[in-house]
Amino acid sequence: MKPIRELIGTGFLIFCALASLILIVINLIHLSLLHEQTDRIQSQILLTQLEIYKAENPLSDKPIPSAKAESRSMIVTAYCPCQKCCGKWADGMTSTGTNAYSVGVAVDPKVIPLGTRMYIPDYGFCIADDTGSAIKGDKIDVRFNTHSEALQWGRQRKTVSIFRE
Ligand SMILES: [Zn+2]
Repeated sequence: MKPIRELIGTGFLIFCALASLILIVINLIHLSLLHEQTDRIQSQILLTQLEIYKAENPLSDKPIPSAKAESRSMIVTAYCPCQKCCGKWADGMTSTGTNAYSVGVAVDPKVIPLGTRMYIPDYGFCIADDTGSAIKGDKIDVRFNTHSEALQWGRQRKTVSIFRE
């Protein structure tokens, strides 16, 4: 027969193991709930920012989309209205006729219809108002006023939000 002290020791060890297992499970549940909450708050913030953007934007007379923003991982390059970026199309206007010296994004209209409102992390809210021969599929091109800003942006993969109306 084992000494009493050893038995108590084993019991205590099993108790500790069970207790930490329960704690881990509780923590995991808590984390997943927190994650869900963060997601919900984040999408709420996005929609609020979109409302503010639309209020400040002259093109913002469309109803606010009730649908949730669609998130999509895309390759985001940058350009400016200069000749180096636009070649013969460097006339200060986008392909939809808006002022090219403004915030906006060039898209593949087959993927994102022109006029779609978007949110691009580190760039902000903008409207898909331009196209480009190299902008196909999951590639988009954000517009800056100066060439150096466009160069500085480079090429980045971002999870963009597309507000389909
Ligand atoms: Zn340029």
